[in-house]
Amino acid sequence: MVHETCDCQQYRSHCNARSHTTHCLFLDGSTGPRKTTPSSYMIIPRHTSACFCQTSTLSRLLILQSCSQIQECRSIELPLAGEIQIAIRSTGICGSDVSYFKKFANGDLCACQPLSLGHESSGVVVAIGPQVTGFTIGDRVALEVGVPCGQCGICRKGRYNLCKKMRFRSSAKSFPHFQGTLQERINHPAVWCHKLPSHISFDAAALLEPLSVAIHALNRAKPEPGATALVMGAGTVGLLTAAMAQESGCSAVTICDVDQGRVDYALEHGFATHGYVVPRPLHPSSSSSSVVSGISTPGADGAMTPASSILSTLDSRLEGARTLAHDILAVSSSSCSPSVEDVSVHDDEHSPNIDTNNVQDGEEDDEGVDIAFECTGKEVCMHTALYATKPGGKVIMVGMGTPIQTLPMSVPHLREVDILGIFRYANTYATGIRLLSASKRLKQALKGPSGKTLVKRGLPSLDNMVTHRFKGLHRSREAFELASRTVDDEGRLVLKVVIEA
Ligand SMILES: [Zn+2]
Ligand SMILES: [Zn+2]
Ligand SMILES: [Zn+2]
Repeated sequence: MVHETCDCQQYRSHCNARSHTTHCLFLDGSTGPRKTTPSSYMIIPRHTSACFCQTSTLSRLLILQSCSQIQECRSIELPLAGEIQIAIRSTGICGSDVSYFKKFANGDLCACQPLSLGHESSGVVVAIGPQVTGFTIGDRVALEVGVPCGQCGICRKGRYNLCKKMRFRSSAKSFPHFQGTLQERINHPAVWCHKLPSHISFDAAALLEPLSVAIHALNRAKPEPGATALVMGAGTVGLLTAAMAQESGCSAVTICDVDQGRVDYALEHGFATHGYVVPRPLHPSSSSSSVVSGISTPGADGAMTPASSILSTLDSRLEGARTLAHDILAVSSSSCSPSVEDVSVHDDEHSPNIDTNNVQDGEEDDEGVDIAFECTGKEVCMHTALYATKPGGKVIMVGMGTPIQTLPMSVPHLREVDILGIFRYANTYATGIRLLSASKRLKQALKGPSGKTLVKRGLPSLDNMVTHRFKGLHRSREAFELASRTVDDEGRLVLKVVIEA
């Protein structure tokens, strides 16, 4: 189709080119020329090097200035060489977004210019820049929002997540800041866009970003078949890490959180095989209490201000973590799965310091999980993870938020426990898309005549992890406020909040 035969009036009024190819994407998803009313289509010229087109599209975006988020309309240029333009359809809100939203900072990273948020995103290709192959207008894609330099030593080794020149959307780490995806349209390098099969929803595709963190954590942990795992924290990343641990061959996966609703969710939906609800502090004035507080679940690169433990001295804090580890392991080793340790049992029947639940007293060297994933960023959870890991095991640091921690290093030292750090992810999207496709197909195939799933295998559905959806950028304030809570006004669990276009 050439310019002259296109019935798109808007295109003609903006474009000076005489003979380049155009693609019109209609709102119903079809492409090509046809008779229609001007309001029912968007005009998408395919930009080529021969094109002198002046067309730029207006795109709304949310921009955070200090602590107020305002909506702006800016024109967006056609994609440059190697880029495609994406109409964003779904963006999940991460702990780091909430932190910028509230404080204009994330941990010790302060935004120093207006910043738009959002980095868990999916959308539809609406324009294609020069020198891009393999994409068609209308393709559904997930965005990998971290763009590394691709040239340096660590990039050439494939560990591009560690590239010093990495630009990551919605993070204030690079300057000028690489803007987030809470925009109607963005131009993004085509090599960092991943095509989606039609049966993966935009919401599930947005969750590929936190799923990538979990995949990367398991790639680093390399569990042996039948290994046991502990996951501290049942937020999005903790849940996905637990699911990936099972997917990677772990036979028993215990998940812990202070929030009963999240632990119940993990067990009901098959994310974990065992659950433990960490008791909240009952007597804040008592320094001998073994209970801990402050487990929360920031996202992949999320950083939250650590809640201070109610325990004052290091010795008593460590003693509390050791007791907690024993209590968790007692639940992990129970055969009646799934099981949720009832908090009230601890509170009513036992003194918190007496570890009556530990059936393995006296065999301390043998107890413990093979791999512990710390997904909260809290020091007390790192202590607990170290105590709960068996000799020769691994502790994987996934959660962020406490840059300087005091750890009992003799525990990993004398028992040869490997501590591995996790920073975002690399080379994970293809795996994530394959897993989402497979779990969807498997569940359909395994549905019996009654419609009930016969065998539970593959990843749990990510669609129902999205507990709250807000339509339109103008509802972002509500979305961000809800994303910082664990239950909504009706008392329902809040896991992942998304903003849909
Ligand atoms: Zn043009
Ligand atoms: Zn690099
Ligand atoms: Zn994140």
